Amino acid sequence: MWLREEEMASLDYDELYRAILKVESTNLGRIFYFAKKVLCVQPHPDDTDFAAGGLIAKLTKRGCEVAYVTLTDGRIGTLDPSLYPEKLASVRVEEQKEAAEILGVKKLMWLNYRDSELRVTIEARNKLITLIREFQPDLILTVDPWLTYEAHPDHVATGILAVEAAFFAMFPHANPGDVRGGLRPHPTAFIAFYWTRKPNVYVDITDYMGAKLKAVSSHKSQYPHGGFEEVENLLKTYSVLMGKKIGVQYAEAFKVLSPLKHLHCCVYAEDL
Ligand SMILES: [Zn+2]
Repeated sequence: MWLREEEMASLDYDELYRAILKVESTNLGRIFYFAKKVLCVQPHPDDTDFAAGGLIAKLTKRGCEVAYVTLTDGRIGTLDPSLYPEKLASVRVEEQKEAAEILGVKKLMWLNYRDSELRVTIEARNKLITLIREFQPDLILTVDPWLTYEAHPDHVATGILAVEAAFFAMFPHANPGDVRGGLRPHPTAFIAFYWTRKPNVYVDITDYMGAKLKAVSSHKSQYPHGGFEEVENLLKTYSVLMGKKIGVQYAEAFKVLSPLKHLHCCVYAEDL
């Protein structure tokens, strides 16, 4: 759907800007109903479950195939100096397996970069491009790298790597060994960001809140000394707040964009 020039000429700036946003954002949320394959690109074990566990449970319930790729090993995610980092990393793999089982996620992949030290590199981007071409997702779900005041470098780097990989996976000459090896270039139709300041799609997760809380609680190393109650309250507060937007008890919020249309030279992507 496009705006006709006569139509545009009759509108003032604000009216036209709103009209453009309306055209560009039409149907963005529908991907959550139609996606058959979703690739979740997360910085650490637990991020997807924490931010989007309700959506994931909802997707797998209707038969959508969901895979996680975790970029770092989660080895520094503790305040306990006696817990050996390698041991923590292996504990967190088991915790993520347990949470995935609860949410119906069948495939877990690990890139094992050192926790807290992830950087945006061509090597990491190429690994993601290969995974995208192998899995051929309709939707990539990741952390919003442009969240204001985000201090964790792994989160910023993961979001940037995911958008770059989503964008370049469609170009055969990007990481060309893939195509020579028989993989197809892949244009991912949509990308969705969680922990975003500019959500444009709200998902009712009321029926999946129990599963989400159970999955998040599986990451026991993150809640020593019975600390899950505080996290549960935090998750409920966020979900109730987002639920207000669509008149439901619990919701999760995402910013959905099209890598083809909105991730390059798109001056209104922020407002979509
Ligand atoms: Zn994280």
